[in-house]
Amino acid sequence: MRVELTIGNFLDRAAVALPDRVAIVDEPDGPGSLGAVTYGEMHARAASLASRLDELGVAHGARVAIVSPNSARFLIAFFGVSGYGRVLVPINFRLNEAEIAYILSHSGAEVLLYDPELEGVVEHVDVAHRVRLDGVDDIAFFGLDGMLGEPRAWAQDEDASCSINYTSGTTANPKGVQLTHRNCWLNAASFGWHLQVSDRDVLLHTLPMFHANGWGMPYAATAMGARHVVLRKVDGEEILRRVEREGVTLLCGAPAVVAMILDAAAKRAADGQHVPGRGEVRIVVAGAPPPRRVIEQVQDELGWEFVQIYGLTETSPLLTINRAPREWDELDSKERAALLGRAGVPAIGVELAIDVDGEILARSNHVFASYWNQPDETKKALEGGWFHTGDGGFLDGPYAVITDRRKDVIITGGENVSSIEVEDCLFQHPAVAEAAVIGVPDEKWGESVKALVVLREGQNATESELIEHCRSALAHFKAPRTIEFRSELARTATGKLQKFKLREPYWEGRERAIN
Ligand code: AMP
Repeated sequence: MRVELTIGNFLDRAAVALPDRVAIVDEPDGPGSLGAVTYGEMHARAASLASRLDELGVAHGARVAIVSPNSARFLIAFFGVSGYGRVLVPINFRLNEAEIAYILSHSGAEVLLYDPELEGVVEHVDVAHRVRLDGVDDIAFFGLDGMLGEPRAWAQDEDASCSINYTSGTTANPKGVQLTHRNCWLNAASFGWHLQVSDRDVLLHTLPMFHANGWGMPYAATAMGARHVVLRKVDGEEILRRVEREGVTLLCGAPAVVAMILDAAAKRAADGQHVPGRGEVRIVVAGAPPPRRVIEQVQDELGWEFVQIYGLTETSPLLTINRAPREWDELDSKERAALLGRAGVPAIGVELAIDVDGEILARSNHVFASYWNQPDETKKALEGGWFHTGDGGFLDGPYAVITDRRKDVIITGGENVSSIEVEDCLFQHPAVAEAAVIGVPDEKWGESVKALVVLREGQNATESELIEHCRSALAHFKAPRTIEFRSELARTATGKLQKFKLREPYWEGRERAIN
């Protein structure tokens, strides 16, 4: 027998096994907060969303976009949209109007679900149906009027697209990563297996749900009937408060989130206040290699288990995991931190290789189907039957270590920025003759965006003027934080920018060329 691996299974199962269990604790002060939602209700609300999409004539396979900070509605949409055969397009809520409009148009989304605070940003974007997630406009979509619909049956297909996640990469415009149900299902299963997610877990959503579908953890936690605690805005002290109040056992984030938690914990410790979660919480970190010192502090000052994973949106994302095996039990914190600083061993079902140039290659059931409507980019990424990560590294025994990035991508605060996109933007300024955008080490964000600029002869522009120019055209997190003016930029004989040379002085004396 073969039953399709579709992500709707996860919520269906939780609603059967644990219907009265609280599934979601929504952000109490969020717009139209849903409060506490049981698995039975979550299932009914997802079904309502699907039947409302039926009524609107949104066909199976059609794209439904969502742009919102974390919310209960976002969690419900994972299932109400993808679980009933439509394709969810989660969009970074920090993008500006033009960037959101591009994604809507490129993905051909027919519906936009949006957070009321983003009204000004999405007001003029072109989309057939817009739904404001405020408890008024969306009343029928989530069954808030008590009218719970029965959706049209979908011919389940595990190879159908589950989501299209736009990610900034090697091209100026973001690419739409098409993840199938099978990709998402198996990623969630292996992630959940490695982390031993159980019905006793309480997952705090410190990771943006738009980012690789919250890395797939919403699926894994739902399947087991764990409790989701929604966090709308990341703040170190607020995270500690939720850990204390909600009994959080699991959270995921970029190293910048860990740094915020450590700062808040240090403040608490200095005030003689309790730091919660010791011996109970595991924190999963990815997006950049966390400093060893940070890992040690997580172990010593918080008493939380530190787990590192490595992956990409294109790989759903789990490729490697570094979770201390029994052999490390007797090690002291410093020794264990040094070992946990590596990206990890291949996750279940993943095969890794390093090519002659030192690029990490991967094969797995989690590797995406294709870039939406970009066959050439897809072909390049999957050449030779391996996925080309664009990350440089080596194997230390079975452990992958990421040392640099081959692709022109900067990762700041866990989010990707395409250097090319920022360079394109700088070139729009009349005073800019040449521009190179690079990532430089940053205490808080891991890396920050820096532009090296050559001005046109006889033209003038200040650093703040060029930064403002970028901020007005791009999402703010993509704009350079600093600009240096140069008389020329290092180039190869063929005129190509030598990014590694330009980066070198900023990374001198460091073990790795990424942060
Ligand atoms: P994204 O597709 O936005 O999730 O970004 C994926 C990229 O993040 C990867 O290609 C790496 O460059 C980087 N990355 C993710 N996890 C790690 C890690 N544990 N260590 C180093 N870099 C990482």
